Amino acid sequence: MPATSMEQLVSLCKRRGFIFQNADIYGGFQGLYDFGPLGVELKNNLKAAWWRAMVYERDDVEGVDCAILTHRKVLHYSGHEDTFSDPMVDCKDCKCRMRADTLKDGKCSECGSTNLTEIRQFNLMFKTNVGPIDDGESFGYLRPETAQAIFVNFKNVVDSTSRKVPFGIAQMGKSFRNEITPRNFIFRVREFEQMELEFFVEPGTDLEWHEKWKEARLKWWQEQGLSMENIKPVAIPKEDLAHYSKATYDIYYKFPHGLEELEGIADRTDYDLANHSKNQSEFKISAHVHDKNVDSNSKLALYDEEKKEWFIPFVIEPSAGVERGVLAVLTEAYTEEKLENGNERIVLKLKKHLAPIKVAVIPLKRNNEQIMAIAHKIKKDLLKLGIGRVSLEDSGNIGKAYRRHDEVGTPICVTVDFETIEAEPASVTIRDRDTMRQHRVNLIDLPDYVKEFFS
Ligand SMILES: [Zn+2]
Repeated sequence: MPATSMEQLVSLCKRRGFIFQNADIYGGFQGLYDFGPLGVELKNNLKAAWWRAMVYERDDVEGVDCAILTHRKVLHYSGHEDTFSDPMVDCKDCKCRMRADTLKDGKCSECGSTNLTEIRQFNLMFKTNVGPIDDGESFGYLRPETAQAIFVNFKNVVDSTSRKVPFGIAQMGKSFRNEITPRNFIFRVREFEQMELEFFVEPGTDLEWHEKWKEARLKWWQEQGLSMENIKPVAIPKEDLAHYSKATYDIYYKFPHGLEELEGIADRTDYDLANHSKNQSEFKISAHVHDKNVDSNSKLALYDEEKKEWFIPFVIEPSAGVERGVLAVLTEAYTEEKLENGNERIVLKLKKHLAPIKVAVIPLKRNNEQIMAIAHKIKKDLLKLGIGRVSLEDSGNIGKAYRRHDEVGTPICVTVDFETIEAEPASVTIRDRDTMRQHRVNLIDLPDYVKEFFS
């Protein structure tokens, strides 16, 4: 059965080195987490799978990697300076601060008091000084989403690649939101990574593309191991849509703490490009313009050769959180099994391409030079296959090594034992994570076997 409580996952993540509380030794920095030795591999594998599906396997998407520090004008004209905020109230009795929509019957959610302040807007962006002068003007923001840098670079990408609609620009990277109440482990955090695609289409074809992207993204999450019974695409009701959106699907996943958003797929219309474009009055703009006095020096539009006119493309945005993705695949993969001999084991049934360690090479005796030499050579040979991390275990305890690799999701273990050095032809034991079955493979055939296993 999959993980049923967040505690199970938090415990495994700490015990085996996936995820740690940030600044743990100083009592923890709230809303921030660090990825450990295995977490960094899992996260990188998930991102690589996204990039492969969104950029490499398509012929209509380009990638970018833009600065995290963001010019204030970008976030002014995008609307974030004015509207990216949460309505907050303070409890005058217990001094806690909470989102106004989390009040229970108008009472403080901590102490139940009704002695509350008026609702105030609290901006979620991190503001920071840029350069040596602190004059109140020389500041920027840590980006609250990766999307805006894509819009601002729209013309650069179009000019350098000669793209025409439909086409997309993809970006993965850190974003920052000063969440009032970070919670649920890595689900809601203040520093996180996004995997975002802005897919530009001809106005009028946007709803059709919106459907296509919903299907494509559902399929991708299934390929990462999530079962459809735990995924639920939900069309957001009109009255709950973000100010820039005409239609949005949220893909919900059944996390241990409940059914919550894993990815959003928004039809952002021409809102962003229009807001960053000079001479807006030249265009028929569908969306509300945030500030008419835009001082951008670039026209973020395309020329329609047939109609002989400029137009601003609409954009479909599939936007997924990396941390939420990691949490979802961990939830799905976490399995507690009762074995035939009465023992129990925890096994992470991760998809092979996501497993932090692909193969563990385990020498039976670490003080046997011959065994160690072969183990080292196997690791070197398997690494050449380019399948990812191959680790050499030298704990000297096979049972413990198997248990550890079950828990971290290593698909196969290769054990070098006395038969390897004494029998002809030389062979090793392969142990499968899911079935726990063991069989011998000739040393000479091992690279081909492993290559086939991961293909
Ligand atoms: Zn209170």
